[in-house]
Amino acid sequence: ATPTAIMVGTGVGARHGVLIRNAEVLERARSVATLVVDKTGTLTEGKPVVTDVLVEENKDETVLLTLAAALERGSEHPLARAILKKAEDSAAPVSQVEDFETIPGKGVTGRIDGRVVSLGSPAWLAEIAVPASAPLAARAEAAQAQGKTVVGLAVEGRVAGYVAIADRIRETSIEAVRVLQEAGVEVVMLTGDNRHTAAAIAGQAGITRFAAEVLPQNKAEEVRRLQGEGHVVGMAGDGINDAPALAQADVSFAIGGGSDVAIEAADVVLVRNDLRGVPTAIGLSRATLAKIR
Ligand code: ADP
Ligand code: MG
Repeated sequence: ATPTAIMVGTGVGARHGVLIRNAEVLERARSVATLVVDKTGTLTEGKPVVTDVLVEENKDETVLLTLAAALERGSEHPLARAILKKAEDSAAPVSQVEDFETIPGKGVTGRIDGRVVSLGSPAWLAEIAVPASAPLAARAEAAQAQGKTVVGLAVEGRVAGYVAIADRIRETSIEAVRVLQEAGVEVVMLTGDNRHTAAAIAGQAGITRFAAEVLPQNKAEEVRRLQGEGHVVGMAGDGINDAPALAQADVSFAIGGGSDVAIEAADVVLVRNDLRGVPTAIGLSRATLAKIR
């Protein structure tokens, strides 16, 4: 492309809140055939809110929430923020945690009043704890089927209850996926969340290909696998847990509200947290090419 075409392309992008790093990125973007998107914070608003606290009959929700909040004080995960906010609202007292540990992509654990307490994904809890009663587990699954993220709390190796958290899909994400698909780009969703929640959110977004329960370290591998299918792969993420995958992609799109590291390294920054910036960038790239033909 000519220098003028590139200046025009990047200029138009900037006016739409789409910051394209350089001329090379503008040229490469047109070849993206597959776009990998992260779920949390990218397709969704990334502002999770606790909707339900699920406990066994005759048990106290506040006790569960108190233990969950105590653990989450040591975490920077978006889910932690939601749980702390909810505990604040209910004015539950906060306990001290010893031996706190974060297990990326799984959850958090520690010792409270001498008891080992773990909070995290149901899949992880299934490995380390005795399940909740069938009726309670069924309520947790029903929340997941609605697209909510459900985390479980285990006390001394037994699942005591669940916290259901909703993170709404951005309306702009739905439109972005549709426009990309119309432009011939396949959209693939990756998430560390469980498959029920993943299926619900993918369905709302119009995405049919997705992978759930992907550990942070395996997201980059998924991108590599798609590249192995011979496609130029773009990746849109917020940099929280997906920075290596963004780095692996041929063209990386960072959500502006995401992590600073991701924004600094990204090929394209979506300043307005709006996934429609991806088809905008690809469209500008294609238009820039058209001008020199
Ligand atoms: P995502 O890919 O959606 O950003 P993560 O890889 O960060 O998800 O986490 C995957 C799952 O691990 C979460 O859905 C949750 O079940 C569990 N998890 C991770 N960190 C925490 C935490 N601090 N508190 C509770 N659950 C957590
Ligand atoms: Mg994420």
